[in-house]
Amino acid sequence: YRGDEAKELLEQARAAVAKEINAKPEEIIFTSCGTESNNLAIKGILAATQKKHIITSKIEHPSVLEVCKALERQGYCVTYLPVDKEGFVTAKQVEQAITPDTGLVTIMHANNEIGTIQPIDEIAKICAAKGVPFHTDAVQSFKKVPIDVAKTQASALSISSHKIHGPKGAGALFLRKGIQIRPLLHGGGQERSKRSGTENMPGIAGFAEAAKLQYDAKKVAQLRDYFVKKVLKNIPDAVYNGPTDSSRRLCNNASISFKYIEGEGLLLHLSMQGICVSTGSACAARDLKISYVLKEIGLEPGVAHGTLRFSFSAKNTKQEADYTVKKLKETVATLRKMSPLGGKR
Ligand code: PLP
Repeated sequence: YRGDEAKELLEQARAAVAKEINAKPEEIIFTSCGTESNNLAIKGILAATQKKHIITSKIEHPSVLEVCKALERQGYCVTYLPVDKEGFVTAKQVEQAITPDTGLVTIMHANNEIGTIQPIDEIAKICAAKGVPFHTDAVQSFKKVPIDVAKTQASALSISSHKIHGPKGAGALFLRKGIQIRPLLHGGGQERSKRSGTENMPGIAGFAEAAKLQYDAKKVAQLRDYFVKKVLKNIPDAVYNGPTDSSRRLCNNASISFKYIEGEGLLLHLSMQGICVSTGSACAARDLKISYVLKEIGLEPGVAHGTLRFSFSAKNTKQEADYTVKKLKETVATLRKMSPLGGKR
């Protein structure tokens, strides 16, 4: 592409992404990923406010929690709100935690491990009333849960391309007009000087194409609910984690604990049978620490260790769900027979 053509493509992509959340194109800043969007929002908005108190939740993604921890080391004070056993925080908790020194509230829209959809409309309203900027990590919810920034009073919202079947290496931050931010990257002044550096045009163009695709959340939720029901009926001592109310849960997520066995072992057996799942947390693979999200919703360590996360897409079929339940049932039974943790034989 010629430079002017590339610029045209970039602005088309910006308009397409903006349209999906009812934002203005100039409120979209392209980044390299959701992690960068979260870093830019949190560090950038705080630097512009000069205030030193942050409110977040205990079950945010590491790209929020680690930023908060780094800021604590620089002298910021962070309130980590606890969640209930389905992973919810309430607007009331946020309201009670706000102080005159609160420079930012950052609460995720939907949790990546247990699918909890937080009441961001209510939280945003309270923050707006108190004059505190509100950022939400919408990396998991974008396209799966309707987002309308004309209705939700969020100041900033992070999204990522590869979570919506777009290419890796592109993300975006919605930054409401009038919200002050200090850039993390200084240079040539791209993205209205809020994110200097040559844009990843192939990634951004692919991101915009993915954003334009229709996403059938209802269909995905139906398949997920069918699968979960069948697992709970066929496999004893299986626990469904996160919200039971389907309307308050991400459509594509199912977190299920299989008591008396180890999630990593189960994952490997399923993988050999062509079924791709993940454990509650990537940490589990490295050091057998249990997922902090599962800990925060009150799961016993033994139960948390036996947890798998199943992610569905509109391309998955009922046949695949049936096959997975069949293989799960066989594998769980085999592993339980060998398990030193006991349980039903
Ligand atoms: N936030 C949430 C909730 C996520 O699930 C992820 C990725 O898994 C991220 C942020 C980070 O996004 P990215 O992988 O684009 O950096």
